[in-house]
Amino acid sequence: MRPKSHDILFEPVQIGPVTAPNRFYQVPHCTGMGYGLPRTLAAMRGAKAEGGWGVVNTEYCSIDPSSDDTPAPYASLWDGGDVRNMALMTEAVHAHGSLAGVELWHGGIRSSNGFTRTRGLGPQSLPVYGDPWQVQAMDKADIAEYRRWHRDAARRAAQAEFDIVYVYAAHTYLLAQYLDARINTRSDEYGGSVENRARLVLELAEETREAVGSKRALAIRIEVDNEDGSDDEKVALFELLKGGFDLFDVTVADYSQEMGVSRFIKEASLEPFIAHVRKLTAKPVVSVGRFTSPDTMASQVKRGIVDLTGAARPSIADPFLPQKIREGRAEDIRECIGCNICYACDGRGVPIRCTQNPTMGEEWRRGWHPERVNIVQKRDKVLIVGAGPAGLEAAHIAGKRGHEVMLAEARREVGGRLTWETKLPGLSEWGRVRDYRLGQIAKLPNVELYRESRMTAADALAVGADHILVATGSHWRRDGRGRNSPVALPLSGGVMTPEEILLGAIPLGPVVAYDEDHYVVASALAEHLVSRGIETAYVTDAGVVSPWSAYTAEQPRAHKRLREKGVTLHFNVILQSASPGEVCFADVYSGVQTRLACATLVPVTSREPDDALWQELKHNKHVRRIGDCRAPGIIAQAVYDGHEAARAIAAEESDLEIRRERVVV
Ligand code: ADP
Ligand code: SF4
Repeated sequence: MRPKSHDILFEPVQIGPVTAPNRFYQVPHCTGMGYGLPRTLAAMRGAKAEGGWGVVNTEYCSIDPSSDDTPAPYASLWDGGDVRNMALMTEAVHAHGSLAGVELWHGGIRSSNGFTRTRGLGPQSLPVYGDPWQVQAMDKADIAEYRRWHRDAARRAAQAEFDIVYVYAAHTYLLAQYLDARINTRSDEYGGSVENRARLVLELAEETREAVGSKRALAIRIEVDNEDGSDDEKVALFELLKGGFDLFDVTVADYSQEMGVSRFIKEASLEPFIAHVRKLTAKPVVSVGRFTSPDTMASQVKRGIVDLTGAARPSIADPFLPQKIREGRAEDIRECIGCNICYACDGRGVPIRCTQNPTMGEEWRRGWHPERVNIVQKRDKVLIVGAGPAGLEAAHIAGKRGHEVMLAEARREVGGRLTWETKLPGLSEWGRVRDYRLGQIAKLPNVELYRESRMTAADALAVGADHILVATGSHWRRDGRGRNSPVALPLSGGVMTPEEILLGAIPLGPVVAYDEDHYVVASALAEHLVSRGIETAYVTDAGVVSPWSAYTAEQPRAHKRLREKGVTLHFNVILQSASPGEVCFADVYSGVQTRLACATLVPVTSREPDDALWQELKHNKHVRRIGDCRAPGIIAQAVYDGHEAARAIAAEESDLEIRRERVVV
């Protein structure tokens, strides 16, 4: 039964001339699909509308070739072809009674224009983000052109049947550049005072409204904080803007806060920065906060912080979150773990995926529904060995399909790698990958979990299963093999693995955590150790702490954290050898060797698949390996592997089809 206190989330909200059926609002978020994969995109957005999100928005949608973000995939409304493609999304969203919104975008200085080769534009000529060239300072004619592009794109948005059209003035893109006094140093009527800097936004408000007509709402996305909510200029700006829009989508300037990983930022973290906005306007306000708790969502509405609960990641991890709350099944929510693997996809130019939700991005390509699976006619006996992320997901989905599932786990504690990874500082929310699946499995009478059941090949075969999935995981290597050395290094003296330390072993200091993995383990481990008073150095062949985590928007915070905690940092050196008391490194560029005092070395270089069981069983046709024992990777890959394998059991040929979306001439 749904608690009465959650009813408020299902009230309709008037947004100018349109009505959102409830308060669940999927804010614009990137998908790594962009204009190139319209069917893939439409099916993904449609799944969210089906799951109950009352408003579903696009990602950033370029208004004109003068703003292209290649290689990051972006949506576009440049021409009639784009209108037809985007209409696929609005149809998919409208089919479930939800509203569709579009975020009209021009990157200004943030657009490199690698695809169109058009010169970028900005309030002044400054270097573009990440490339050695600059944009052209906009003169009056350029501003007039830009306004015309925006108007025309808004008309196309109306043709594509979007209900809500955004003027996008946040996230350091063109309009935010005009609002920012440090970037906008113009001496004409578009620069200087706050009134002048807001002029372009106000002109667009008027022109966009005229272009989209009276049946569509006008929204603005804007940063309202100065980190303590007391910036007079931001208040003055809001006063100027508040009459111009039907909806305020408010956020903060610090992207690593707005989009914060759970390692550093917890649920509802924006509230102190945006809470004042609701009092400044009678129009609906929406903001995000990686909300997965319906109590927190309802409380924010009741306390007058927001009118609509904004979400990107929670809607990615669980497109059916609103429906589950409506049906009083909050315990079934697949809660976002705040890892930002979804966001990493856009930066890498690949379609979105999600650690918690393996169907994300696969709705059209593989026909995977986030909640429904094909129920089997004939119940097979399935043995799954190993209850890490891969094994748990496989057991959940095979069980949901109706198979008789036995999940055997060697240890008492379930979760595989999560049993130790969740002990890293800030990573406890990653345990939701395990907890969600354990919760679902507990509801399935046809799935049995056997703890403390280490399986040999003979044990596995003796079960008489129709299908065996080997999900026995991997472990960090102690011998230094990795990106730089495919052969074992001469490592003598104290060597420990991350698992050993996090499962209770206390290393002797000084410790050297050596990172060739470049993701989260080595840096979080260094933080863990130094917080326990153990002298620790973080050493890497890269030039910064955890470089891959730049994709997940956490790299700067990871780097800062280690500095703050007093971890010694060494960059651009490659591990050569270790002997009692010291380790030897060679400079990446010169080869010059250096030595560091070290009682315990923790090489975070690569992992060894635990595939002994698979090797013994692989000659049996009905055996398959999944997850890290197949190829060690990130948790999202293990979950995906488990999901795919469970869907493939006794599947029809058509269920296994993978569609490819591309231009065919
Ligand atoms: P993945 O990420 O692929 O799911 P993990 O390393 O997280 O891999 O999990 C693998 C799990 O398999 C661990 O919990 C481990 O204890 C378990 N396991 C390994 N070998 C066996 C075995 N022979 N029998 C049962 N469980 C096993
Ligand atoms: Fe959340 Fe991670 Fe999924 Fe993104 S990838 S929605 S952060 S669980």
